[in-house]
Amino acid sequence: MIIKFLGTGAAEGVPAMFCNCRFCTWAREQGMREVRTRTQVLVDDGLLIDFPPEAYYHSIAHGVDLSSVETLLVTHSHMDHFYAHDFILRGYKYARLGAPLLNIYGNEEVAKVFSECTAREMKPEVAPHICFNQISPYSIFTASGYRVAALPAEHVCTERALLFYVEREGRGYLHLHDTGNLSDEAVAFLADNGARADAVAYDCTFGEKSGNLSARHMGVSDVCVVRDKLAAAGIIDGGTINVITHFSHNCSPSRANMDDLASRFGFVAAYDGLRIEV
Ligand SMILES: [Zn+2]
Ligand SMILES: [Zn+2]
Ligand SMILES: [Zn+2]
Repeated sequence: MIIKFLGTGAAEGVPAMFCNCRFCTWAREQGMREVRTRTQVLVDDGLLIDFPPEAYYHSIAHGVDLSSVETLLVTHSHMDHFYAHDFILRGYKYARLGAPLLNIYGNEEVAKVFSECTAREMKPEVAPHICFNQISPYSIFTASGYRVAALPAEHVCTERALLFYVEREGRGYLHLHDTGNLSDEAVAFLADNGARADAVAYDCTFGEKSGNLSARHMGVSDVCVVRDKLAAAGIIDGGTINVITHFSHNCSPSRANMDDLASRFGFVAAYDGLRIEV
């Protein structure tokens, strides 16, 4: 299983869109190496997790054939995770499709955003090429040959944000952002369903800043708590690659700073374009 981190920044991006803080000013001067676009993960060229405004840019920068992606899992409706306007372009004269049908999986708010954002411009010729599947926490389904388990995130009270465990041919990837500390029920659900993650991506929005800043996201000390929980439940072991990602400009997430932070706590720091194979 190949996991590609196409974007690794929090909602505002790095450098942040409207920010002139010292870090963002520095990052803007460094060129693309220090840029972190909004988060998106590609598994094996066929399964995408989330669809930020940079999905189009990611397809160019990282050579992703979006026309052949059959499955899109959406964590929640926040704009950095689901920019739905682009879907009006999936077909008709705008695209020759590798996969005739894209299946999108998301919660009821994601379903609403999908219909709101496509209502004005979706041509009848395009609509049949996308199927929206509404899912809830604790659902398990098969998509493009992957077994997918959706678990509840600790993120917002306005919708049931999701996290995903994706498994194929004995390899597993656990996608944990946006979220705070996982509930015991969510961990038990994974363990009860035989989840064994070879790689985990953790929300580390706050970088080194200590926990309790918000229950919606994590810093590295919160991530360590979640990692310990997963290990105690047998979901990860010593061979698991633990990746931190979804960094905010507030934690000065230069490549060097995040590499240093990650190595001190036994993680790998994601950057835009990081590819891992498990
Ligand atoms: Zn986010
Ligand atoms: Zn900034
Ligand atoms: Zn969010």
